[in-house]
Amino acid sequence: MNEISVPRPNNLDAFWMPYTDNKSFKDKPRMLARAEGMSYFTPEGREILDGTAGLWCCNAGHGRREIVEAIQKQAAIMDFAPTFQMGHPIAFEAAARVAEMTPEGMDRVFFVNSGSEAADTALKIALAWHKARGDSQRVRLVGRERGYHGVGFGGMSVGGIGGNRKQFGAQLPYVDHLPHTHGVPGNLFAKGQPENGANLAEVLENLVALHGDTIAAVMVEPLAGSTGVLVPPKGYLQKLREICTKHGILLIFDEVITGFGRIGANFGAERLGVTPDIMTMAKGLTNAAVPMGAVATSNQVYDTIVNGVPAGIELFHGYTYSGHPLAAAAAIATLELHRAEDLPGRARAMEPYFEDAAHSMRDVPGVIDVRNMGLVAGIELAPRAGKPTARAMDVFKTCFDKGVLTRVTGDIVALSPPLIVEKPHIDRLFGTLADAIRAVP
Ligand code: PLP
Repeated sequence: MNEISVPRPNNLDAFWMPYTDNKSFKDKPRMLARAEGMSYFTPEGREILDGTAGLWCCNAGHGRREIVEAIQKQAAIMDFAPTFQMGHPIAFEAAARVAEMTPEGMDRVFFVNSGSEAADTALKIALAWHKARGDSQRVRLVGRERGYHGVGFGGMSVGGIGGNRKQFGAQLPYVDHLPHTHGVPGNLFAKGQPENGANLAEVLENLVALHGDTIAAVMVEPLAGSTGVLVPPKGYLQKLREICTKHGILLIFDEVITGFGRIGANFGAERLGVTPDIMTMAKGLTNAAVPMGAVATSNQVYDTIVNGVPAGIELFHGYTYSGHPLAAAAAIATLELHRAEDLPGRARAMEPYFEDAAHSMRDVPGVIDVRNMGLVAGIELAPRAGKPTARAMDVFKTCFDKGVLTRVTGDIVALSPPLIVEKPHIDRLFGTLADAIRAVP
């Protein structure tokens, strides 16, 4: 192991870490100092195989030279320029590159800085669209249980994770939720899309009956990642699409995880055969090298809002860093890598091997379900009696000690390696995970 020369903090107190048990982390820190290809390295130089593409975001692998050089070059040319009432060429080019990948007819792209901002932006665009059409009564937003749309007030409220909300009293009003699609009988250990549960989309008809024509939009992840890899049942998204269209409701897909090749196509919309009206994205857009998110809308949504205002600003929304030059440069370089290396195609080609490896976990004692699509898999563990989540957390820590990075949510271990993963990496990921699960009953 070669030690890596990085500043070593004497004091970990100041950084209030996000979504972290700060006390136990600071007692026993897990530090990463360098990354390259499929791996991280600790400050001591110990290699950690990245089973999670960072946080579902470094889809092209780490330290890609093309992205690094694009960022360096742009930083020297122009560090920042506003996109309010003026522009810079590479923001427009980045948007055009994104539009080349989105489903046909979804060619308008609003830049933000994160998945959370993308979620709130998408919800606001939906409300603005209805208002522009004179449907001002459509203010209700529908999400789904176990949905994750980030941490802004919009995304948190429309999201369906109790743990993310109970600490904060205030929620957006006028929000309702569909049931999640997990746990339908007959779906255990499904490979790809499970057979049962499409009918759960029909609950949207009940919500329409309840709320009348006040629903503006339904927002779901095509495949829910953060709450444990919930793959949509066959026909479910098609039904949601049908019901939304029938009742004049906009369908928003949160593609923050499913975008950019994760499930074997550019977007979940493409892989799952359903086109939304609005989609959010982030993470893989810049390979996470610079924070950036985006919202793509149908041309019709854009035209209605933009042409609906005779003159002046059409959408009172935006961020100082929307279309930031460094992020735009990183996005262009990343999307070029996606095209040149056909990363979505690569994920699709590796999917059968990854799927077999994931489902081999079925024989490991304590594994109660496995589900997968593209290069994402969820391995669900039987919780320890009276201590939900403790077992998965111990598995995560054991894997880290054994040199593999996993991600846990509840009692589910999620694996989502960079799309450049090779078969020996897959063997090591699942082999280490199986050993860790056996080691921490
Ligand atoms: N939406 C989805 C589906 C996500 O998975 C995430 C993050 O994991 C977000 C939104 C929030 O993204 P961010 O953490 O960049 O704000």
